[in-house]
Amino acid sequence: MTNNASEHTQSLQCKDRHFLHPWEDVTATGTAARTVIAKGDGIYITDSDGKRMIDGPGGMWCVNVGYGREEIVAAVAAQMRDLSYFSPWSVTAAPAAILAERLAALAPGDLNNVFFTTGGSTAVDSALRFAFFYNNCLGRPEKKHVIARVGAYHGSTYLSASCSGKMLEKANMDMIEDRVHLIPNPNPSRRPAGMSVEDFCDAKVADLENKILELGPDKVAAFIAEPVLASGGVIIPPKGYFERCHALCRKYDVLFIADEVVTAFGRLGSYFASKDVFGVEPDMLTTAKGLTSGYLPLGALFISDRLLAEIKAAGNSAKPFFSGFTYSGHPVAAAAGLANLDIFESDGLLDHARSVAPHFRKRLQELADLPVVCDVRVAGLMGGVECSLDTDQPNEERDMNFLLKVDRICQQNGLLLRPIYATAVMSPPLTISKAQIDEMVDILKHGLQAAAADL
Ligand code: PLP
Repeated sequence: MTNNASEHTQSLQCKDRHFLHPWEDVTATGTAARTVIAKGDGIYITDSDGKRMIDGPGGMWCVNVGYGREEIVAAVAAQMRDLSYFSPWSVTAAPAAILAERLAALAPGDLNNVFFTTGGSTAVDSALRFAFFYNNCLGRPEKKHVIARVGAYHGSTYLSASCSGKMLEKANMDMIEDRVHLIPNPNPSRRPAGMSVEDFCDAKVADLENKILELGPDKVAAFIAEPVLASGGVIIPPKGYFERCHALCRKYDVLFIADEVVTAFGRLGSYFASKDVFGVEPDMLTTAKGLTSGYLPLGALFISDRLLAEIKAAGNSAKPFFSGFTYSGHPVAAAAGLANLDIFESDGLLDHARSVAPHFRKRLQELADLPVVCDVRVAGLMGGVECSLDTDQPNEERDMNFLLKVDRICQQNGLLLRPIYATAVMSPPLTISKAQIDEMVDILKHGLQAAAADL
């Protein structure tokens, strides 16, 4: 813990002042004394003073197979010894080739072409660049607009950040505004009073259709959407929404990009949620995180056979997709990805995730009875517990500070939270047992009650 930290921890916190963290308030650099995480084991992490905690958010929604898996450690070490790098431009290597084939077999529909990236943002960026490239190749350079949603998060490159719809996070940051259009948040919990969920779904689908028609279908390249909006606070659009948006995209010849950076690799009980959970075969799909369970950075963009065939049919000249990274298909990251997939198979991890998910849902939903909790949203093994100290007088900053206090109490009691504004996000390793879910939710419940009692 950060209070009463040992000398060793304080010295690390001092050095950490040079580490400019994501989302750092640059007017306050050097003032934060962050918890220093020293070890991970299963669903637990241990800080530099020996305090053991459940990792509620599973790193950053990514430690799907849990910490400390020797199989991945061994595969990575062996691969580094054999071949630490190859240039993906001119040659190939076994781990990336084998991983691409295995992933293509798991991906929905005809998403048989895997473009490896360095993470989720670069996967999203590559998907959008491919959408532009595709339309140029098809001789329709004006078809370049992108539609995304308020509440979504798609990454931290210029293009992917522009498609993100967490509005507070746009302050002082330049965005691409002439090509990227945000339609309203599909959060059914925030639907207008008196409106049914079905009517709300109709309205949100109509938002997409209206935006396509307003811009002109011949101007819209792509719609990008997470099946469940993760960093937006586990927002679960109404039943049928994803499927109907996909149908609209087909109708208007707009590419449908499923951003499964979070929802893939078991988080919703399947390797990919688009088809298995939502019945959709996207034109492109982006993923990262659970692809290596966070052991090494790796992302992937899947492109459908159809798109490549259309480009091929559009003319005889060569059409290189001038996009790629020094680390595309990095052999060590790919080896981690392969070992990660092996664990999914050997541990029956998808079955396990599906079997504990109802308990996770039931236990988290019990928290809705607490007066400080205004909404509980659960999908598979992702959950969001939203707090509001007074729903009649919304005050995001007040509720956010409350949740930071809950986080401090929970850490003392053995649970690391990840408050996103006023929502405590839970996305534990998929290996979690029912007893560990009980332990996690009990600590959270106590944290919420203790923080409320201290108001
Ligand atoms: N897309 C989604 C849905 C995400 O949740 C994230 C990260 O949280 C990203 C893209 C960006 O991924 P990365 O941080 O690996 O670049």
